[in-house]
Amino acid sequence: MMRRILVVEDNELSRELLCDWLEAESYQVASAANLQQAFAAIQERPPDAVLLDVQLGNQDGLSVASWIRQQPALSHIPVIAVTAHAMLTEQERIFQAGCNAYVPKPVDFKLLTEQLERWLALPSPSHSKE
Ligand code: MN
Repeated sequence: MMRRILVVEDNELSRELLCDWLEAESYQVASAANLQQAFAAIQERPPDAVLLDVQLGNQDGLSVASWIRQQPALSHIPVIAVTAHAMLTEQERIFQAGCNAYVPKPVDFKLLTEQLERWLALPSPSHSKE
């Protein structure tokens, strides 16, 4: 079964690179360029994991992580932050928002895949019937 990853990244080139890499690694990919698109994509079809750029232009990408953690039906979804500022205060903000892990920019794709596999391997709760 293919796992479905939502890539949230405002930079078009970075977004395409991430999506291309994930597709090459046999993931199904959806993408969003801002908070509104991310919320809509997650509600429309919850992904198996979210790759989340922390800085979405002037929006705080971490809002997506905190929002996911507040939704009982979605709160189990792994969220991996991608950040250009991997210093300690930023790491704290990332984990406080509910992200499972982070990967520094520029993205090391091998590391990214390792993190994805690690968090996707966790047993997810059985979904309630609609
Ligand atoms: Mn960005």
